[in-house]
Amino acid sequence: MSATDTHRAETPVAGGDWETVVGLEVHSELKTQTKLFCCCKNAFGDEPNTNVCPVCLGLPGSLPVLNSFAVELAMRIGTALHCEVRPSIFHRKNYFYPDMPKDYQISQYDEPINVGGWLELPDASTVRIVRAHLEEDTGKTTHQGDTGRIHAADYALVDYNRAGVPLVEIVSEPDIRSAAQARLYVTELRAVLVATGVSDGRMEEGSLRVDANVSVRRAGATAYGTRCEIKNLNSLRSLGRAIDYEVARQVALVEATGVVLQETRHWDESAGRTVPLRSKEEAFDYRYFPEPDLVPLEPDAEWQARAAGAVGLLPSDRRERLTALLGGAPTPQQSEQVHVVVGQGLDDLVAAAVTQGAPADLAVVRAANELAADLDAALALDPGAFAHLVEMEAQGALTATQSKAVLAELLAAGGGDPAAVAVEKGFEALSEASLATVVREVVDANPEEWSRFVAGEDKLAGFFTGQVMRATGGKADGKAIAAELRRLRP
Ligand code: ADP
Ligand code: MG
Ligand code: ZN
Repeated sequence: MSATDTHRAETPVAGGDWETVVGLEVHSELKTQTKLFCCCKNAFGDEPNTNVCPVCLGLPGSLPVLNSFAVELAMRIGTALHCEVRPSIFHRKNYFYPDMPKDYQISQYDEPINVGGWLELPDASTVRIVRAHLEEDTGKTTHQGDTGRIHAADYALVDYNRAGVPLVEIVSEPDIRSAAQARLYVTELRAVLVATGVSDGRMEEGSLRVDANVSVRRAGATAYGTRCEIKNLNSLRSLGRAIDYEVARQVALVEATGVVLQETRHWDESAGRTVPLRSKEEAFDYRYFPEPDLVPLEPDAEWQARAAGAVGLLPSDRRERLTALLGGAPTPQQSEQVHVVVGQGLDDLVAAAVTQGAPADLAVVRAANELAADLDAALALDPGAFAHLVEMEAQGALTATQSKAVLAELLAAGGGDPAAVAVEKGFEALSEASLATVVREVVDANPEEWSRFVAGEDKLAGFFTGQVMRATGGKADGKAIAAELRRLRP
C-alpha cells in the first residue's frame, strides 16, 4: 500500500471556506535503562541533578558512547511506521541555553535513521511520515514565579537528569486536516509506541511532547499557506485547543492583512491562546556540524531484522485480537474500552486473563476503568490473580463494588489470591438461599411498600434494594436482588 494515494483529502473547513493544514513533530522519550551517550539512569521523577555524569554534563575530555538499545528502539519505531531504516550520522546542534550544559545537543540532521513511512489512523485516514530520528533530550528548566512563564519569572531552576535521555523525533508530512485528526494521530502514534515497547507514552510526565505546525489555505487551493509552529504541547487537550485557536487567528489575519508571518509560538493554556516566541528572522542558526566523537551508525541486516522482529503486534492488530475475544461484534462502548485498553498497553494482561478463564467482556471493563486508572501497578499485576478476580465477579461471588475493592488490594500488592482478600474484607458472597431469605424478610417487614410495588410502582425496587443492602451489610448483588424481587412479584 502506498500512503500517498490512500491519504484521504477529508476537508473539515475552518470557518467558511478555509482549510486547516497541520504537520506534527512528536518527541518520544525511549524506555531505556540508561541515557543515550552515557551510563546515567534514564528515570522520571528522581531528585534533580542526581542522574548526571561528566558526559551528560559536558565536562571537558568526556566522550559519548552510543546506547545500542536506543538504536534498537528507534529501528522498531521505523519498522512500525513503514519507514526505510538507513545508515545515519549524528550532528551537533549548537546553541547557548542553560538547559544543555554542553551548549550543543547531539541529534540526527540530514541523514536520519528512519526515512519515509506512514501511519494509518482508526478512521482509515493516513498520515505520511517524513522521518523519525534519534537525538538526546535537553535538561528541564523550571521558571519560578507567579505564572511559570519566562518573562515573569523571579529565577529559574534547571534539572540535568533529563539531559541526554534518548528521544526519537517523529516528523509528519502536513497531511493532517483538523484538530480532531491531529488528536487521533497522536493517540494512535502513542499506542504504537506503547505497543512496541518503545516508550511509556506518558504525556503528563513529558515522555511524549508535540510541536504543531499549523497553516490555513482557501478550500481547493493546492499551495500551502505560511505556517506557525506551536511548541511543546503536552496534552491532547492542549493540542486540539491550540490548533483551533491558531487556525482562527490565522484566518482572521489573512482576511484582514492577506498574510501570516512565519513564527514560533507558545501555547498559553490558561489564557487559551498562542503567543509569539520568535519570528523567522530571529530563528536560531544552529551551525550543525557532524559530531566528531561518534562514528556513523550502520546497523547490519541481522540487527535490523532483530529490531523488526521485536515490533510485535501493532495497535490495530491488538484491537482486533481483543474485539475477537469479545465475540466480534462490540458495542460502541466496548470499542471505546478496547481503544483504551490497547492504548494503555493493558491488552496482553487482558488476553492472558481470558486464557486463564476470565470472561472477556468484564475483563475489558475492569481494565479500561480500574486498571487504566492505576497504570504502574496494573502493568505489574499477575494475570492469574486478575483472571480469578474477574471470574469471581462474573459468577456473582463478588458484587461490582466488592470486586473493585479487592482489585485495588491486588494492585497494591502486585497480585495475590482474590478469594483470600475477599474473605479478609468480609466479602463472603451471600448464597442464593440466604439472599432469598433476606429479601423475604424485607418484603414481610414492609407490607405497605410491597403492595404498592406489586400494584406497579416500579421505583420502589430501589427502596427494597436499599433495605436488602442494609440488611446484608452491602454483600448482596444488585442484579440478584432485582431477580429475586421479580420472582416474588405476582
Ligand atoms: P523545520 O526543520 O523548520 O521544522 P520541516 O520542513 O522539517 O521544517 O517541517 C517541520 C514540520 O512542519 C513538518 O511536520 C511539516 O509537515 C510541517 N509543515 C511544513 N509546511 C507546513 C505548512 N505549510 N503548514 C503546516 N505544516 C507544515
Ligand atoms: Mg521544526
Ligand atoms: Zn551521564
